[in-house]
Amino acid sequence: MQAVTSAVSIDQDRLANASRHPESEALANFAVGDCSPGSASLLSRHVARCIACHRKLVQMGFPPADVAPARHGPWFALAAGLDAREVVGAAGIGEALYVVRARAGARISLRAALPVEEILVLDGSFAFETETFVQNDFEVVTDTADFTVVGDLQVGFTALVTTGQPDEDQIM
Ligand SMILES: [Zn+2]
Repeated sequence: MQAVTSAVSIDQDRLANASRHPESEALANFAVGDCSPGSASLLSRHVARCIACHRKLVQMGFPPADVAPARHGPWFALAAGLDAREVVGAAGIGEALYVVRARAGARISLRAALPVEEILVLDGSFAFETETFVQNDFEVVTDTADFTVVGDLQVGFTALVTTGQPDEDQIM
């Protein structure tokens, strides 16, 4: 029998001190495979770099579902200062998974550009209202109308997001 701890391994070289973590319920659902493939992509990446959430998962005693390796579509301009590319084959029915990349200092209405539901910061950071989202921060953003963010003034940010399935003409 495979040890639970090996199912999601910690990436020691890339640990990040996130300030925003998935809810325990989301982690529990992820642990038993009861979440969409897109959400699982974000959560597995967060957990691999977050000792606190990794520990929670291990305490729950459930091996998380495997996440299929991803292919990426081409980069395309989504809005001024914002590029995106689809992660192909990693999302479930009715959702899509994108990597988004914002230029330094770009001010972006993220949910106006894409129907973002969850976000995981991969690199850089951004400001949202009075808060700063840093590397490995995970947040569900469906309660926010437009989620207007400002990319870090030096490096901008890169993030992995799940979305509802966008209209074709919205992303062209
Ligand atoms: Zn965490």
